[in-house]
Amino acid sequence: MDFCSIASGSSGNCIFVGTERTSVLIDAGISGKRVKEGLYAIDRRPEDLDAILVTHEHSDHIKGLGVLARKYGIPIYSTPGTINAMLEQQLLGKVEEGLFHTVTPDCHFELGDLEVQPFRVSHDAAEPVAYRMRSGEKSVAVATDLGYYDDYIIEHLKGLDAVLLESNHDVNMLQVGSYPYYLKQRILGRRGHLSNDNAGRLLGEILNDHMKAVMLGHLSRENNYEALAMATVCTEITQGDNPYQAKDFPIEIAKRDMPSRMIAV
Ligand SMILES: [Zn+2]
Ligand SMILES: [Zn+2]
Repeated sequence: MDFCSIASGSSGNCIFVGTERTSVLIDAGISGKRVKEGLYAIDRRPEDLDAILVTHEHSDHIKGLGVLARKYGIPIYSTPGTINAMLEQQLLGKVEEGLFHTVTPDCHFELGDLEVQPFRVSHDAAEPVAYRMRSGEKSVAVATDLGYYDDYIIEHLKGLDAVLLESNHDVNMLQVGSYPYYLKQRILGRRGHLSNDNAGRLLGEILNDHMKAVMLGHLSRENNYEALAMATVCTEITQGDNPYQAKDFPIEIAKRDMPSRMIAV
């Protein structure tokens, strides 16, 4: 299974997951043009996409969705709540009704040779989910836009071969930064975003011997920077109550405006 971040950050998210037979995107939160360029950069084409799996209706996850679905007839998969929100708020322009498919959290389904498992996350959107995907013995997951994690989230992220996990903000930078009070509260709240510390702690719970790649993603432009996210997460892993050290795993930052390396698991 191939796994690649085409773009990740508060300004737009788009992750590619594919096997030899099946290709999907998780979110299309950058322009259709940038998605196409990103796919070409990893030797894939938008025409080959079997589906776009949408986590939730915020613009940094769906900016290019309408254009791509229209232009290439790509099926859109998401929860009923997210699909309704996108349609009611007219966020996609005109997209053929037949392209929408609903998914149910905790019910897995097949897309070619990929098994997709959506699971609930706590975030200030209509019905947000994250996705875990399996092909044969291998599993990967993308989990961003979650205010907190609990045993349910940990359970869904166990036994992975690769993961892209949100490491959104540094709590101190956010607290002393220029964001208005209500926005700070929103980001720090139960339906906000995962901080660097929490990303590190969550990784401590889910790391395992066959984890081949860890990507930290959805970094805030205002309230985080790459070296700080990396240092904080690594400290949490190494000092945490788990059998590992951060150096036991390749950990990298999923860039805001550049595809990551292609991770093959
Ligand atoms: Zn969001
Ligand atoms: Zn987001």
